[in-house]
Amino acid sequence: MEKTLLIIKPDAVRKNLTGNILKQVMDAGFKIIGMKMLWLNKEQGGKFYEIHKGKDFYNWLVDFISSGPVVVACLKADSAPARLREVVGATDPKKAAPNTVRNLYGTSVGENVVHASAPDENPQREIDFFFKAGDLHEY
Ligand code: UDP
Ligand code: MG
Repeated sequence: MEKTLLIIKPDAVRKNLTGNILKQVMDAGFKIIGMKMLWLNKEQGGKFYEIHKGKDFYNWLVDFISSGPVVVACLKADSAPARLREVVGATDPKKAAPNTVRNLYGTSVGENVVHASAPDENPQREIDFFFKAGDLHEY
């Protein structure tokens, strides 16, 4: 079993989509082993997304991710990072496969309702960004 990080972004929290998204993810076979709501400030948002520093959408992205509360969840499943990316769909909701989370709820390439760790971009670093060992529960 592997772990990955899901963030329900401020656009989705504002639209009350948290429950629908969590149900879709859990129905796909993921177990939630840690979860909380928090409101990132710009410094925290900038640090989380530092891999994108210098790209034309970076400043917008930092403003967006800190524009309201997010729900962060640590999820466990076989091949969790790769499988969650499939459930979530492509970055641009218009290009996301039918019935993926972003296809169903995303409104633009930026406001795409969720973040899911990329398998090749150190999911553990993203989990550690939000959760201490004692915040995660095996059951
Ligand atoms: N993003 C954006 N414009 C772009 C590409 C990305 O606003 O042209 C935002 C979008 O919210 C995306 C995030 O930046 O989810 C991170 O981009 P990445 O390419 O890593 O996409 P993801 O891994 O989230 O699919
Ligand atoms: Mg990414």
